[in-house]
This record gives sequence, structure tokens and C-alpha cells, in this order.
Amino acid sequence: MSSSDLHLPVPGHPIAAIATPVGVGALAIVRISGAGVLDIADRVFRKAHGSEKLAEAAGYTAHFGRLYDGEEMVDEVIALVFRAPRSFTAEEMVEFTCHGGPVVVGHVLRLMLDNGCRLAEPGEFTRRAFLNGRIDLLQAEAIGEMIHARSESAYRTAVSQMKGDLSKKLGGLREQLIRSRALIELELDFSEEDVEFQSRAELTAQIEALQREVTALIDSYQHGRLVSEGISTVIAGRPNAGKSTLLNTLLGQERAIVSHMPGTTRDYIEECFIHDKTMFRLTDTAGLREAGEEIEHEGIRRSRMKMAEADLILYLLDLGTERLDDEITEIRELKAAHPEAKFLTIANKLDRADNAEALIHAVVAGTATEVIGISALKGDGIDALKRHMGALVKNLNKLHEASVLVTSLRHYEALRNAADALQNAFELIARESETELIAFELRSALDYVGEITGKVVNEEVLNTIFDRFCIGK
Ligand code: GDP
Repeated sequence: MSSSDLHLPVPGHPIAAIATPVGVGALAIVRISGAGVLDIADRVFRKAHGSEKLAEAAGYTAHFGRLYDGEEMVDEVIALVFRAPRSFTAEEMVEFTCHGGPVVVGHVLRLMLDNGCRLAEPGEFTRRAFLNGRIDLLQAEAIGEMIHARSESAYRTAVSQMKGDLSKKLGGLREQLIRSRALIELELDFSEEDVEFQSRAELTAQIEALQREVTALIDSYQHGRLVSEGISTVIAGRPNAGKSTLLNTLLGQERAIVSHMPGTTRDYIEECFIHDKTMFRLTDTAGLREAGEEIEHEGIRRSRMKMAEADLILYLLDLGTERLDDEITEIRELKAAHPEAKFLTIANKLDRADNAEALIHAVVAGTATEVIGISALKGDGIDALKRHMGALVKNLNKLHEASVLVTSLRHYEALRNAADALQNAFELIARESETELIAFELRSALDYVGEITGKVVNEEVLNTIFDRFCIGK
């Protein structure tokens, strides 16, 4: 993909949109961007003091005045002027801060549309910022992630990406790749003469260095995913163990349907809660026991799927159960089946068990897992449970302050492809294959890395060849 694939339908056409959330608020912002928006603004805006036109105003200046639809006043507003290219989109822009009611904001927006703007498409301001070279694709994506960040760590990672930390890292990778490739392409130009501009051993060393960097980025995704999506946590256990009740208690609100009938949590329910800056994404599974109804089977199938992807499995057992041995077997099997996941056994309904301590001891002995006693209904032991959950995933969730994180699947996949291409190049060199084939793999690796930031690559490669070697033809 190159940035030319992302061209606007009508580049530079004035666009308008409400930039603040829908609903009643003290203030709201309507922003316009594109060719001639300062003139459009002047058509509807009258300054309270003085007669200066916004089209003549300096960038980054605020102007108090009123918006008029003909002779009818629409609202009292502040107009903030941005001059190209010093705006978010790199185009002329005006932001009107108006009063926050939905009807008022609707009128202000309508006024812009009636005077030559069209309604912006979703993300169009950011898209223009990218197309006009203000930000790269990664930074554009980071803005989206930042807006949607649900935890402190997700927010921090988005900020880092917006600052361009990952872009810089990838930029460095690209430069190295472009250099290696330039040299090898040069050989192709001189293929008649059988020259080698760079020893194959040197090229191999460069590729290995690149592989190490790409692999480090790929590995960071494991952590980056946890930061942006949360720790995938599955609550497993027999029907009626109290899974839905626990889910509600952890979330602090009524989410799952709690019921006395076994097997009523038919599908899985997913909700997030944050403990000590860590986001847990909780899934309440339908009962894992065999069940008669079709719909239950579907629920069980999905639970198993969820469990296979879980970072943390919480197995909930009812201390009042008469089949404690069966539960112990179940826990052992489940733990063995998911060696990748962290595992915690929770003994529920502490409030109803007389011999809780002895029972818990039996479970610890039988399962060799950590067991924590709670009452999901009364809330006993919940704080301790949260602390335990936090401690279990602490290593998973440790933020490597120094390194950059890959948080998006798109970036991860592109990096995987780049790594494959590098591996191919590496093997081709080892087999003393033709230069064309090696050059092809390096070009693919470069394209994959370029895909991430949205760069156009070919022109750059050519420039590098000519700049560095002054072939000049
Ligand atoms: P699920 O099938 O595992 O989701 O179980 P539910 O959350 O629907 O709970 C089944 C029943 O156990 C409900 O009647 C709950 O009120 C009850 N229950 C859940 N936790 C506790 C608890 O800690 N103590 C007591 N006494 N009852 C509980």
C-alpha cells in the first residue's frame, strides 16, 4: 500500500464536522478545514470588536464574535484561526467554540454546510494530516488509539506512538534496508561485469542485525496487545458456582444475568475493569459441563475457544459442592490443558461454608494451584483477589519503559512478513543464489516495513542509489 492509495475523493475541499461528543455540554467545537475556509468563516462570522476579517488574521489567534445566518444570529462564539500549513491538517482551518447544546451545535454545523463546506467523513481530518505529510500512518493510528484508550498504560503507549517513537525505530530499520538494497541493486545494474559491491558476509551480518530488531518489535506485540486490549481473563467453573456474581462484583455493576438455574449464562460476556493501572478483560463462560440444549453447546464451544486465548484463567468452585473431588480433577485437567495461561483457583461462597479452611487446604493439596477464598455475593476477599490477579500478571504487564511497543495487529503482521522476507534473503545468500532473488526479498522486507508508516518506497530507493553513488544517468 502506498499513500497514493489513500487519496481523498476531493482533495482540499472544505469540510466541516463537530469535534466534540454529542450531547449537552458547556461548550462544543465545530471545525472546518480546506481551501478557502477563512473566507467561508468571514461570510458567517462578525467580530465583536473591530472589523478585521478572519482571512487577514494571523494564525493561532482567537476572535470573539457572533455567527449569523443571514440576519439571524446563531450563537456567540470564539473563532480560532489556523493558517496553512501550521494546522492539524496542514490546510487553512477554523475552530468555532460555541455553546454546547445539540441544537446550537447542529445550527453552527448547518451554517458551515450551507456556506460551502461538506460534512467530513469519519477520520477525514486525520487522514488529511497524513496525506499532507503532517503525520505518518502510525501517528494517525495512535491518535485513534489514544482517544479509545481505556487504561493508563494504553494511553501511555499511544502517546509514545504519537510522539513518533515507533516511527523513528521503523525509520531506522528502513534506512538500513534501503542501504543494503541499494548496494545489491547496483550489482544488478552492473551484472554484466560480475562485480560485488559488498561482500556477502557483510550483507549477511546486516540482515542478521535487521532480523534482531524486527524480532524484538514482533516480540513486543505480546506485551503491546496486553496493554491495548487488556489481560484476557476467563472465569471458568461449573454452573451455579457464582461466575456471573463474581463478574458483577469485579465490575462493580450489574452486567451478567445472575440466576439460580444452572446454565443460564448462555454465551460469553466480556467486560473490562482496571486494577492498579492494569486492564483486565473478563469473560464469563457458559457452564463447562455437558449440556443438552443446542444453544448451550454453542456457548460451551465458544468458552473453550476463549479459554485457549486466555492470559489468565480463574477457576471458580463452590465450597458447598458435594463433588469436591470432581472439581479438583477438573482443575488439574484445565490447568494442564492451558500451560500458557496463568491460573488461579477461587473458592467461592465462603459465607456459607463452615469448614472453609479445611476444604481450601484439600483443594490446594489436590490441585497444586493457588487458592483464594471469597464470597462473590458478599464481596469478602475481593480486594485480595484483585491483588492476586495483579501479582500474577505483573510480569506479563511490565512496561519496558525503554523500548517501543507494537500494539496493533496490522503492524505486527507487516513485521512478521518483513521477518519472513529477511529470513528468505538470509537463506538465499547462504545458498549463493542469484542477486535478483536476494534483491527481491530485500525489496519485499522494505515494502512491508514501509506499509506500517504508509511511505512510498520506490522513489526513495532510487534516490538513495543516485545520492550515494552519483551515477547520475
Ligand atoms: P454461575 O452459574 O456460575 O454464573 O453462578 P451465578 O453467579 O448465577 O450464581 C449462582 C447462585 O449462587 C446465585 O443464586 C448466587 O446468588 C449464588 N451465589 C454466588 N456467589 C455466592 C456467594 O459468595 N455466597 C452465596 N451464599 N451465594 C452465592
